[in-house]
Amino acid sequence: MTPNEFKEDVLLIAKKMGLNPKEIHLRQMKRKLASCSSNGRLTFDPTILNEPEETRLKIILHELLHLKYPNHGKMFKRLLETYLKEEIRYRREFS
Ligand SMILES: [Zn+2]
Repeated sequence: MTPNEFKEDVLLIAKKMGLNPKEIHLRQMKRKLASCSSNGRLTFDPTILNEPEETRLKIILHELLHLKYPNHGKMFKRLLETYLKEEIRYRREFS
């Protein structure tokens, strides 16, 4: 997957979730694979491009959800699971 394909994918998923990330960056990170800043900027480590689809989706959804929920509370976890299941089902059906 190319960086542009990745960014388009993130935007598409964000749109489905009714979210609007301000910026999406791919940049080498030191200790984690992704982050979400309080001003709506998402950063992903380029290694994410080589992750299997399910892992990649999990990371994308996790960061996108942080635009709405800054913590990892119950609601966050429940929504993450729901969105992940739906997205995977959707992709199996339409690919
Ligand atoms: Zn998190």
